[in-house]
Amino acid sequence: MTPSRRRLLSWYRRNRRDFPWRRTTAPYAIWVSEIMAQQTRVGVVVAYYERFLKRFPDVRTLARARLQTVLGHWSGLGYYRRARHLHASAKILAREGFPETEAGWRALPGVGAYTAAAIASIAFGRRAAVVDGNVERVLCRLHRLKRDPRRVRELADAWISPSSPGDHNQAVMELGATLCTPRAPRCRECPLVADCLGRAAPERYPGPKPRPATVRERRAVAFVRRDGRVLLRQLDGRRLDGLWDLPETAPKGEVLGRVRHSILDRRLEITIHRGRAGRTRAGAGWFGPRRASALALTASARKCLRAVGFLDESVG
Ligand code: SF4
Repeated sequence: MTPSRRRLLSWYRRNRRDFPWRRTTAPYAIWVSEIMAQQTRVGVVVAYYERFLKRFPDVRTLARARLQTVLGHWSGLGYYRRARHLHASAKILAREGFPETEAGWRALPGVGAYTAAAIASIAFGRRAAVVDGNVERVLCRLHRLKRDPRRVRELADAWISPSSPGDHNQAVMELGATLCTPRAPRCRECPLVADCLGRAAPERYPGPKPRPATVRERRAVAFVRRDGRVLLRQLDGRRLDGLWDLPETAPKGEVLGRVRHSILDRRLEITIHRGRAGRTRAGAGWFGPRRASALALTASARKCLRAVGFLDESVG
């Protein structure tokens, strides 16, 4: 049985939370809001979104702006790579116009399957279903399914409303965020309770996430010292963007210490080698203990600098 789209949509239109991007279908505004919401809670996004749209009201203004200005307006949202992608994409969009299809959006930097489907459905009325954690939970409960990404994708594609795909996508996510929550779902208020096969024991679905296997990794870093200062490099990447770390090196030469460090499912074994100062590359710098300890260091770099006695336990 297909759960009622009509009841879902009319519930959504009466109960949706009022976010500024829900008052428009302008592709530029929808795109900015979706990129901002990628790794940030929607409640936090609102103020940044409003400020950003005031300063960069359209794609041409964003394309013409200097990257540093865009990054400045992103400050506080984190994951700066999103802002770099937004700026790079703006240059393409200002030249070529907004694509209307999922495939067209996916070709842009920083746009994955979820974001492409969200923009194509909300801004262009394309029948492109989004699947995120909320959608997965709602569908698994409605159909009494354990985790099965392929089946969830099929169900989402079959269910999405042909006439209001943007509202449908947002309605399923809203249901998952407000009523069909991971713990203590409020089934009595749910517009789909009559269709829901999992309503007798909703918390059983979709079931626990499989634990990722632990991955062991060996790394070698260089401790390079000159005039009481240490050489550090600034990282550029999705998760660690802007943080400072010790430079990586080949695993050879004098070993000054070893450190173990865990990041999610990764277990790092880091060997610290004595390194020699060469040419200082772009994105690297020399820091005394006091400045180094005040920097945004990665947790593993902080451990390494303590292990070799460069940072004091008490101040580092
Ligand atoms: S009835 Fe309960 S479990 Fe089923 S979709 Fe609604 S809130 Fe989720």
